[in-house]
Amino acid sequence: MKTLQAKRLANIPPYAFAEIDKAKRAAIAAGVDVIPLTIGDPDLPTPAYVVDELVRAAADPSTHRYPEYEGSEEFRSAVSAYYAERFGVKIDPKEEVMALIGSKEGIAHMIWAIVDPGDVVLIPDPAYPVYRMHTLMCGGEVYSMPLTEASGYLPDFGSIPENVLKKTKMMFLNYPNNPTGAVCDIEFFREAVSLARHYGFLICHDAAYVEMAYDEVKAPSILEVPGSKEVAVEFYSLSKPFNMTGWRIAAAVGQREAISALGIVKTNTDSGQFTAIQRAGAKALLHTPRDFIDFMNKVYTERRDILIEGLAAAGWHVPKPKGTFYAWAKVPRPMSSAQFALDLLEKTGVMVTPGSVWGVEGEGYVRLTFTLQTERIRQAVSRISDYLSEAGIRA
Ligand SMILES: *Cc1c(COP(=O)(O)O)cnc(C)c1O
Repeated sequence: MKTLQAKRLANIPPYAFAEIDKAKRAAIAAGVDVIPLTIGDPDLPTPAYVVDELVRAAADPSTHRYPEYEGSEEFRSAVSAYYAERFGVKIDPKEEVMALIGSKEGIAHMIWAIVDPGDVVLIPDPAYPVYRMHTLMCGGEVYSMPLTEASGYLPDFGSIPENVLKKTKMMFLNYPNNPTGAVCDIEFFREAVSLARHYGFLICHDAAYVEMAYDEVKAPSILEVPGSKEVAVEFYSLSKPFNMTGWRIAAAVGQREAISALGIVKTNTDSGQFTAIQRAGAKALLHTPRDFIDFMNKVYTERRDILIEGLAAAGWHVPKPKGTFYAWAKVPRPMSSAQFALDLLEKTGVMVTPGSVWGVEGEGYVRLTFTLQTERIRQAVSRISDYLSEAGIRA
């Protein structure tokens, strides 16, 4: 047999979170009471009126046929209405919105639509691995923008060399940020847009957590910046704000040429998301009271505070994130991130994700999520506290 796997996969490891899932299942099978502070997936259910809408829509035979390629008019109009209401941004539902089978799918295919071999893509480090992996598969050149504590986990555009910017085709940004929990303000987006306009490249803003900001902070959409639609496309996902990760529904919004190029890849690849799911997605966008989002954010704030304040009492000082459901913590022992995560799992059953899975700058950090019930978070804190005092670490 010839070697089957394509050469373009030579530098592509299996998806890190699939591997972490495997480790979790193995520990559970071995009888460990695992507390997974690794899960980037809301634990609370989708609102009932959204589920009811899906049930109704699924019973309507008009949804049983192939969906419209670019997404149903109903869904795209709902996205446009949502952007007007939530961000004060005018979006043409026909040319500036495309329905996605989750934003992960859209992000991956957008890279295939835009990046030629040799094109530079500016990618934060640490970052969601999809940006980097698909850039590599397309033969693009990754230029890493380090996100460090000192710069508030924002990239320093001034440090990117001129010759790199000239070859840049695309830049990824993601705020509120996974994995650091950092939030940016509109001024930062203004700078990014002005850089992209000057050098003529596309910004892909991953807005998966745009609804999840705490302590009176409101996270902006990059499309709020005047002129941004000429250079920016935003990925808005229903997964995290509406507890709909399993449904696979999101939208690409903004720059027309990018949306149209994405359409060429997608119409030749998939045939769109089930129309009934799009109808339920439209329902979520148009009929969810702001109170629901506020309530969810209160739930996450309470859990965050239990986690961060509990760890601080145990001598592990982790900053309180202003957004997302992730805390980005310095490894409290002289170990690599991966060694620490493994040791903690073996000794306590608490799982955390080594920062190195998001890039070299993530080494020295672990990510802790607060998508579990408060009782479970308290148990995790208590186990970590015992572990740290046994290791001789105390405030
Ligand atoms: C969860 C997540 C996504 C994926 O969202 P889907 O719409 O469910 O595919 C995208 N980007 C980041 C940074 C995420 O954490």
